[in-house]
Amino acid sequence: MSAGTPGGLALLGQTVPVGTSQRLIWEGGGTFDGGSAEGIPVFIVNGNAPGPLVCLTAAIHGDELNGIEMVRRIMQDLDPARLSGGVVGIPIVNLQGFRRGSRYLPDRRDLNRFFPGNPSGSAASRIAHSLFTDVIRHCNGLIDIHTGSLNRTNLPQLRADLRNERVRQFADGFGGLVVVQSPGVPGTLRRAATDLNIAAVTLEAGEPGRLQSVEVRIGVDAIFRLFQQLGMLDRLRLLKQPKPVYYRSTWVRADDGGILFSLVRLGQVVSAGDILGTVTDPITNEQSLIYSPVRGRVVGMALNQVVMPGFATFNLGIEAGDARNGSLMESLEAPPDEEPEGSRDLGDPDEQERPE
Ligand SMILES: [Zn+2]
Repeated sequence: MSAGTPGGLALLGQTVPVGTSQRLIWEGGGTFDGGSAEGIPVFIVNGNAPGPLVCLTAAIHGDELNGIEMVRRIMQDLDPARLSGGVVGIPIVNLQGFRRGSRYLPDRRDLNRFFPGNPSGSAASRIAHSLFTDVIRHCNGLIDIHTGSLNRTNLPQLRADLRNERVRQFADGFGGLVVVQSPGVPGTLRRAATDLNIAAVTLEAGEPGRLQSVEVRIGVDAIFRLFQQLGMLDRLRLLKQPKPVYYRSTWVRADDGGILFSLVRLGQVVSAGDILGTVTDPITNEQSLIYSPVRGRVVGMALNQVVMPGFATFNLGIEAGDARNGSLMESLEAPPDEEPEGSRDLGDPDEQERPE
């Protein structure tokens, strides 16, 4: 769909006139506890000149707060009179999880494993279907904003399937953010959107349960750089665009259980053989070291905590496209090491795999 055209922007049963901002309601995220349906606010800025429609979604995981503030700042700052195209912002997709401070829906399902959804499936699947059908599939581009999972933190970064040329061009527009190649776990909003050939990325920044000013600012700046790059903002001159750096990523796991202390910080470049952290058994006092198996950059990591053997501790980005790794596309074809935590082992022992 093209936004900013004379007929207005039709979405959620309404028409948003050209050159205006509106707040609409998406009903599909309603309660399923017998109460009346509860609407989720959807902010729309429809520019006064034609251009792409970009969707911003945050808090699909209700405890991931940084994206809520990013969407608020962006939607408040956009002036429809100076925008080409349109922007749709949903600051809190999982309002019920947000209210309970939880990643999950009230039925303990992870909404971001049910896209594109099914209108006659589980509650999560119906909510996913409604969001996907009523909003997402109308967008040309999607930025789904997340943070690390429980007790983990992420360097601000994009995750994108760079094998899709449209996605790759979109990811390039954010400027100098780290871009990690990832096809996306099936069921995620990004994966479902990419499958429809929508230019979709995940923007990861920081930790759940916190509002982090530096991470929020980095995300907002990157999204505005994208809008400029897409020709959506009538700034006098384009800000200088740093080159994106592509990575593939791998998790380093603890082989022993105990108390984890990190010896590196987010964003740090490490060499193969460097010590990333220590794990100490509080009873036997035995200590083991976690070594980096590769040269890479710390793009995600566990906070200091008690870990079990096998716990994913450090997520290392391995630069793609440098001579040692062969050509960019070759190295992107390497087996993906997705965030190993599916919907079931995010520190939530009650979460069970359920049939759709
Ligand atoms: Zn998330």
